[in-house]
Amino acid sequence: MQFHRAQTLDEALDLLGELGDDALVLAGGTDAVIQYLAGEIAPEAFVHIEGIEDLTTVSLNHRTTLGPLVTHRVLATDEVIGAVHPALAASARTVGGWQTQAVGTIGGNICNASPAADTVPPLLVADAYVTLASRRGRRRLALMDFFLDRRQTVMDPDEMLTAIDLDPLPRGSGEVYLKVGRRGAMEVALVGMAVRIGFAADGTVDSARIALCSVAPTPRRVPDAEKALIGSRLDGGVFDAAGEALRAAACPIDDARASASYRRRTLGGLLERAAIQCREAVTS
Ligand SMILES: Cc1cc2nc3c(=O)[nH]c(=O)nc-3n(C[C@H](O)[C@H](O)[C@H](O)COP(=O)(O)OP(=O)(O)OC[C@H]3O[C@@H](n4cnc5c(N)ncnc54)[C@H](O)[C@@H]3O)c2cc1C
Repeated sequence: MQFHRAQTLDEALDLLGELGDDALVLAGGTDAVIQYLAGEIAPEAFVHIEGIEDLTTVSLNHRTTLGPLVTHRVLATDEVIGAVHPALAASARTVGGWQTQAVGTIGGNICNASPAADTVPPLLVADAYVTLASRRGRRRLALMDFFLDRRQTVMDPDEMLTAIDLDPLPRGSGEVYLKVGRRGAMEVALVGMAVRIGFAADGTVDSARIALCSVAPTPRRVPDAEKALIGSRLDGGVFDAAGEALRAAACPIDDARASASYRRRTLGGLLERAAIQCREAVTS
């Protein structure tokens, strides 16, 4: 096993270009090292990128741009990020314990492509895009097109995630991330749901985005559930229709932590709770 410590993005891209399939990017290591020690992955080389300062930045403009090395701790505690991306901050606070949050990065959470990645639903409701770079060039694509299957992405072996850009929460909107788990911390989501809702002055829903994790091989938006909320005042049978759409979009598995039917049954009630919390959290 070779261990390369890249100090600049150029160095990292050169190494990935040379080593190709044999190399794996290593950021905080909270997924990759555990998988390596468990024998689930066996790269010939790690390219350690944690020291690349340029990938740790946060830039807040009409779109927010996050470097992939921004840690969960920064997302969870930075007041400005908390104000413009409350669901993302809330999701980061649910990742493991504080030790994991201190070193685990948003880029690692995305690229590990776990069905249960907590930061992904809030990124999806913020219309996030990812930038991938290699020696061959750069490409920017919608986060929802990044995931192919459980632990599989469109990223080529010589590519690296170098930025994530997303929409801040607009005025007149609220957003939340709710996670169902057996414990308050150190537990991957049995179901995770991010909801961002925009309200008109009379309280009618004029935009809605809903994204789920842990109910399918990849995190996903649920457009039919979003449509069911639009035009409503979050009353009447709106949650019956939206809940039905969520259940139709979910294809959860039975595992040691929860049954598929339990995961499905939580969805309608979770959406209702999330939507009401969005209304209470509306920004002015
Ligand atoms: C005790 C514990 C509890 C946890 N709890 C949770 C939880 O509740 N919710 C949750 O979502 N996760 C949880 N995790 C998983 C993990 O902490 C997160 O997924 C974390 O964000 C991974 O980031 P990292 O920097 O450690 O990634 P690494 O482990 O370094 O990398 C993960 C994967 O991403 C790739 N990668 C990383 N950065 C890049 C990049 N810039 N470009 C290309 N590829 C890249 C690596 O090659 C690797 O395949 C937990 C982990 C532990 C150990």
